Amino acid sequence: MTGHRMSKFYITTAIDYVNSRPHLGTAYEKITADIIARYKRLAGVPTHFLMGNDEHSLNVFRRAKELGLDPKAYCDQMEREFREVWQRLDVSFDDFIRTTDARHHVGVTELVRRIQAAGDIYEGHYEGWYCNSCEAFKQEKDLVDGLCPVHRTKPDWIKEKNHFFRLSKYQRPLLDHYARHPEALEPEVRRNEILNVIQGGLDDISISRAGQAWGIPLPFDAQSVVYVWFDALINYISALGFGAGDDEAFRRWWPASLHVIGKDITRFHCVIWPAMLLSAGLELPARVFGHGFVTFEGEKMSKSLGTIVDPLDAASKFGPDPLRLYLVREFAYGQDGDFSWERFEERYNADLANNLGNLVSRLATMAEKYCGGRLPVPGAPAGRLAETAGAALSSYRAAMDAFALQDGMAAAYTLIDAANQFIAETEPWKLAKDDAHAARVAQILYEVAEALRIAAILLLPAMPASAAEILRRVGAPKPGAEHRLDDARWGAAGDLTTIKADAMWPRIGEAKKK
Ligand SMILES: [Zn+2]
Repeated sequence: MTGHRMSKFYITTAIDYVNSRPHLGTAYEKITADIIARYKRLAGVPTHFLMGNDEHSLNVFRRAKELGLDPKAYCDQMEREFREVWQRLDVSFDDFIRTTDARHHVGVTELVRRIQAAGDIYEGHYEGWYCNSCEAFKQEKDLVDGLCPVHRTKPDWIKEKNHFFRLSKYQRPLLDHYARHPEALEPEVRRNEILNVIQGGLDDISISRAGQAWGIPLPFDAQSVVYVWFDALINYISALGFGAGDDEAFRRWWPASLHVIGKDITRFHCVIWPAMLLSAGLELPARVFGHGFVTFEGEKMSKSLGTIVDPLDAASKFGPDPLRLYLVREFAYGQDGDFSWERFEERYNADLANNLGNLVSRLATMAEKYCGGRLPVPGAPAGRLAETAGAALSSYRAAMDAFALQDGMAAAYTLIDAANQFIAETEPWKLAKDDAHAARVAQILYEVAEALRIAAILLLPAMPASAAEILRRVGAPKPGAEHRLDDARWGAAGDLTTIKADAMWPRIGEAKKK
């Protein structure tokens, strides 16, 4: 990797169909991508985080018609709803693209033009299966008992004039690319699936739909629109101004450092997208991460199946942070997970109420009682908590750099656990009975506060508001958002002054349990 690539981080998520509101599955993707983006900013890396909505879907068009709305007006309304959900979940995207944006129209037109200029588009007829819910062409071998395996509905048999992209031409270049850059597709299980697909041979794909009005017309055939998936993938560069007169953002941020996507769309992102870019002579994204599905009671979150749990249920009740922490603490990133309210409650009580929240309260109470809240840097050398903090910081960095978000959070919690244990073992409330121990009591409490300050910095990406509140309560000299990983060095903040306030996470009562 060149220095140029290391000096910035461009992260994207999949853009969402707007025929229904965001659900836990989409929220999981946005929250985990947000944690990675916030971690990069914390690490001092210039970061650009893109999200958006995929509006050129026939399902969107149909949904708007059902509601008696103009499709664009419907998309405008859904954009407001999506943005409102992301705001409530504290998702810190820098840019939000809509595929009906003028800039997207420009980018799609230019990319299609380049691919055509490369001789990679030809006219033909498509005859075969098409699942309207997937908005995808299906091969016989993709179907299960003649049905779409995702939607369990019978796909339509369609026959129309289409323009085709010479995907077959890119089999060898794609295999070479993944041989040179195995890290370009993670986790490994997804990479192996995709390598099998590519090795099995690639068919050319249809990239247009005939006789439709909703979409971006092909620059060389105004009677056809660009197929929604081909259109959607291009958002990652059109958002940066690709194809526009001013493409400074494109030159600054492309290629993407990380595309965060669901595992079901790795084929689009790891076969078709890089082939499109190769054809157009553009650089390939450094990495695609295909996360698993978070299900609810064993059922995949799906707009079409209607098994929806509104992520706002937890976020509006407890604020976004307990949900955000739960989603990364509970599930290994890359694997599937099953959301349960029972586990959410257990984790809330264990991680937040009893552990971190209790530590914040006990420290503030003791610091006020024994030291008037003032905890100067002790003259005595730092004890074992300082060592634990150093180890936690290095495991945290290693884990977060590898997108092992669960391990990153676990590293932060080793420090919180150690601080709780340190209080239990040193028993400052006993030492405080004798004035001769005043210096020792002050040192113990300073060290606990310092451990808490450092743990809070490590938790900033997952729990931005709560971690900032903890930093305020331990007397960190600047607001949470201004912190960098360098601030997580032991003693970096100098003297601390604690602030006593209400419990941050009161226990969820037993009464709620059935
Ligand atoms: Zn389907």
